[in-house]
Amino acid sequence: MIHDQLETKFIHASRSGNVEQKTGAVNVPIYLSSTFHQESFDEFGPFDYSRSGNPTRQVLEETIAALEGGTRGFAFSSGIAAISSAFMLLSAGDHVVISRDVYGGTYRFVTEVLTRYKIEHTFVDMTELDEVACAIQPNTKVIYMETPSNPCLNITDIRGVVKIAKAHQCLTFLDNTFMSPLYQNPLNLGVDIVLHSATKFLSGHSDIIAGLAVTKDEQLGEKLYFIQNSFGSILGAQDSYQLIQGIKTLGARLNQSSQSAQKLAAFLNAQSFIKQVYYPGLSSHPGSEIHKRQATGAGAVLSFELAEDVDPKTFVENIRLPVFAVSLGAVETILSYPATMSHAAMPKNERESRGITDGLFRLSVGLEHIDDLIADLDQALQIAYREKIAN
Ligand SMILES: *Cc1c(COP(=O)(O)O)cnc(C)c1O
Repeated sequence: MIHDQLETKFIHASRSGNVEQKTGAVNVPIYLSSTFHQESFDEFGPFDYSRSGNPTRQVLEETIAALEGGTRGFAFSSGIAAISSAFMLLSAGDHVVISRDVYGGTYRFVTEVLTRYKIEHTFVDMTELDEVACAIQPNTKVIYMETPSNPCLNITDIRGVVKIAKAHQCLTFLDNTFMSPLYQNPLNLGVDIVLHSATKFLSGHSDIIAGLAVTKDEQLGEKLYFIQNSFGSILGAQDSYQLIQGIKTLGARLNQSSQSAQKLAAFLNAQSFIKQVYYPGLSSHPGSEIHKRQATGAGAVLSFELAEDVDPKTFVENIRLPVFAVSLGAVETILSYPATMSHAAMPKNERESRGITDGLFRLSVGLEHIDDLIADLDQALQIAYREKIAN
């Protein structure tokens, strides 16, 4: 049995189960068909209706399952659709232990939707295993992780949390968006459901919204399939095709962007204009050792806090290359300002207690030449510093 590297699998995984092997087409056909003719009166073919299964979506689902080392993959209309569908495995009276610096949309779903169905939660600092263990109740059914987390790249000890979960018969879910299957394969560490916002690195071009989920356990996979078909937030055939194409270049894109992120983190770390840099690839980052034990790369996302004498507004106004926007994981570098973007709804003191100050920026490093990115950040920092000092 030959074991290909992930970079090779990104290119070929979608070909192995290709439904159109007859034609030899190197790309998966886009099956724009909601329904499928049945040849026989009493024996139906593999597809009947595209909510339940579509050949193009199936190739994508088999691809992500292969990449994460799972048995079943599921494609959804967004990352949040994948995450909320996974939570629908729960029932009234159940309880969830969840990371307090979870993605904003996940926070909203757990606090404002699940509670209406009598599914309760406890937020914990997932970097503290004791805190996780203490939050477990007799009705706890899921421990929900996100590592590295947003925006301060906190690292959760995945194996440690899985051990606690198994001791209490709870499932573990993990949002693997920041690492992608290239750098972190949580199923191999004992996690039950891996979730992705495929809107980010997997598709990679800021063009589609998509979500993926992967399971290893057959029974759990069947249950999640039942939810996917019952809730119906599936990914369409055209977007499935586009995502398959995006995945092919994931290795080249993420390896290149991560190399640049490492250089940028080192550059920023040496600047007096910068108070702090958050990046798991820096040995000074809390959790960098744990991260190295469970992931093979530090990724392309970093955050940094400007020093008091650098004006955030002037900095943004003088940046030339990065787009100033929410989202991440694309070919273009994306600069985000958590205080007014991802965490705008959070009260200021709550925000600041999580490190999300008015000087904090998140950078998702793209594929521009690293020298151009460094030069651009450098000149914007200089101007933002001079302006503040002059006033
Ligand atoms: C963007 C994101 C999501 C939500 O995904 P959508 O595709 O926007 O629904 C979930 N988790 C993380 C970590 C994200 O960055």
